[in-house]
Amino acid sequence: MRRIAVLTSGGDAPGMNAAVRAVVRTAVYNNVEVYGVQRGFKGLIEGDFIKLNVSFVGDIIHRGGTVLRSARCLEFQNQESCRKCAVDLLNVFQIDGLIVIGGDGSFRGMTSLTEYGFSTIGIPGTIDNDLAYTDFTIGFDTAVNTVVEAMSKLRDTTSSHERITIVEVMGRRCGDIALYAGLSGGAEAILIPEVQYDLSQIAEQLIKSNNRGKKQSIIVVAEGVGNTEFISKEINHLTGFDTMTTILGHVQRGGNPSSRDRLLGSMMGNRAVDLLLNNITNRVVGVKDNQIMDMDINDALRSKKRFNREMYNLSKVLSI
Ligand code: ADP
Repeated sequence: MRRIAVLTSGGDAPGMNAAVRAVVRTAVYNNVEVYGVQRGFKGLIEGDFIKLNVSFVGDIIHRGGTVLRSARCLEFQNQESCRKCAVDLLNVFQIDGLIVIGGDGSFRGMTSLTEYGFSTIGIPGTIDNDLAYTDFTIGFDTAVNTVVEAMSKLRDTTSSHERITIVEVMGRRCGDIALYAGLSGGAEAILIPEVQYDLSQIAEQLIKSNNRGKKQSIIVVAEGVGNTEFISKEINHLTGFDTMTTILGHVQRGGNPSSRDRLLGSMMGNRAVDLLLNNITNRVVGVKDNQIMDMDINDALRSKKRFNREMYNLSKVLSI
């Protein structure tokens, strides 16, 4: 391979920049040219390509977001002619391989290019940690830390007012942000899409704790569970305690990436280029048992996410 390209797509995630930096520097180190495609698949169909060099990726390892920008592109998803146009443009630029940094949707977009015989590698960049084949995705650790920090601040005011705070965090189908942040932030209850919840049981527990002298509690709710405001009102109704809802929203996408996300980005970016240089393509990079690994993209997309029931059970034990 003489020339490769890299893009970031879908929801942005802290640590994507570390991955872009590692892709560019590993390629340049191996005398391979690198192009950046701006705004994900949108830039791919519009030919928004820029040549990258070592200095372009200087001073970005500590920044959240993505210097290549990100976008969602429905035309690319829905129109075969757009995907064909993307492959034509990659050929015009004489690009031999493309690295896609993004989530589940971006990986599906990537497979549509492999159908044209184009070589691709995927790097998991999404705060949700909802890709089954890898233990962790880039951005997840930073998002969890953001939630834990917010919980500490909320604890102060929750305690002053002797109330119950219900915090809604991101996660439509996967409750990992709620589970990991809830456990490390000492939440009194964690509601996630993977487990049916019982508000009367939670209320009973809150009343018991209150009788013991505990006057404040935090409940973490993943957005995929349903109506957080309704949950808050129900808890108030069932316990008689004052409740307050906080929706953390997009603050969870931003911020300086944690050391862990920078390491993941650096190691995965490096592996992605190594694979392309060895003509091993149509794979996604991940991490399993603390080791960087890669696997066939279709196998990865077919794998089913294992719910971490041990962690969930632990959160119940520790919140009595
Ligand atoms: P994420 O990668 O974070 O999951 P999205 O699901 O929004 O984000 O996907 C990002 C982009 O990937 C979409 O805007 C679209 O351009 C492309 N994409 C998603 N699904 C497909 C698909 N099935 N076929 C082709 N492109 C897709």
